[in-house]
Amino acid sequence: METDLSFDDTSEILKGLLEEIRAKSAMTMGYPVSKDFDFSELLPFINYPLNNVGDPFIPSTYTVGSREQEKEVIGFFAELFRAEEDNWWGYVTNGGSEGNLYGLYLARELYPKAIVYYSEATHYSVQKNLHLLNMPNITIRSQESGEIDYDDLEKTISINRQVPVILLANIGTTMTEARDDVGKMKAIFKRLAIQHHYIHVDGALAGSYAAFIEPRPAFDFADGADSIAISGHKFFGTLIPCGMVIAKKNHRDRIARSIDYIGTMDTTISGSRNGHTPLFLWYVIKKLGIEGLRARTKKCLDVAAYAEKVLREVEPAVWRNPSALTVNIPKPGKALIAKWQLASGADWAHIICMPGMDKAQIDAFVKYLKESKIRTVALVD
Ligand SMILES: *Cc1c(COP(=O)(O)O)cnc(C)c1O
Repeated sequence: METDLSFDDTSEILKGLLEEIRAKSAMTMGYPVSKDFDFSELLPFINYPLNNVGDPFIPSTYTVGSREQEKEVIGFFAELFRAEEDNWWGYVTNGGSEGNLYGLYLARELYPKAIVYYSEATHYSVQKNLHLLNMPNITIRSQESGEIDYDDLEKTISINRQVPVILLANIGTTMTEARDDVGKMKAIFKRLAIQHHYIHVDGALAGSYAAFIEPRPAFDFADGADSIAISGHKFFGTLIPCGMVIAKKNHRDRIARSIDYIGTMDTTISGSRNGHTPLFLWYVIKKLGIEGLRARTKKCLDVAAYAEKVLREVEPAVWRNPSALTVNIPKPGKALIAKWQLASGADWAHIICMPGMDKAQIDAFVKYLKESKIRTVALVD
């Protein structure tokens, strides 16, 4: 077969792409990526076909992978999320969306007739997953902050009291990083005497650091969660998109199927699974430990508080949810959004102070924003 690309062209293209990525990566402010971790020690692993096929906790006949590290990572988060001893399970996913799909799938297998409730501030992956799983669902109003409206939730559930309840709790909504309170959700079940219920926590954004926030938000297994999904490429900065889902083991046991071909259980959504990403996650938790992660969270919160303060001097309407890394800004013009890669909705845009973002970067952004306000005419879309 002939190809248009000579080897020289390929290297030229790669060089150009690398330059472009380097420049763009320095400018991003609106999307939750961390760019601060040095993974060069893991580079030799790129030369091997790692694959953690199937259930991480049951050995496979294919042994080129990072199962031991994956188990350690899941165990670390199960403990951090206060899972009941000997009743937890999980795996490293391809990202937050897969973790949400998995949690909702477990919930459906437990309560096939349930209705799923989630707030209007919920990430788009949830509606897609509900569609894939064909689960009946109702959207609940959000408060201004992005947190679910508990009165609307309680009223809506009370109309459907005969049906099991599956709740999707957001720990860090995509736009404003609002956190729903799992404790308040449990209290609603109690008041309405709902006996069949399941809470899946979408912690893709803030679930990774919620355990290090004070006061600790109500989001984990001890608070009432049945499964929790988090992302690996956001706060932990694994570079390659990935995530984790942790669930009560008894829920997972309901769907387990043994497969001869791989010599393990088929308990995950995809068959073949990334063997590199668990290694990246493992490396982060080994290098930082609980105290390092706590310090990482504090540093980000300090930068976010700084950003809120200096941005408010330029735009008085700027605001931030308590202990959030996301700073909300009235939506600026298209050129500014594109230049700084801000995430935006209808009326608001935001920056997110993930690890790797520093005060100097905030200062540069504020300076630009200030100047562009003076030049508003040029910025009107
Ligand atoms: C990022 C995010 C997701 C989706 O995660 P992916 O890793 O992009 O699949 C889901 N929910 C929330 C709140 C998120 O911030």
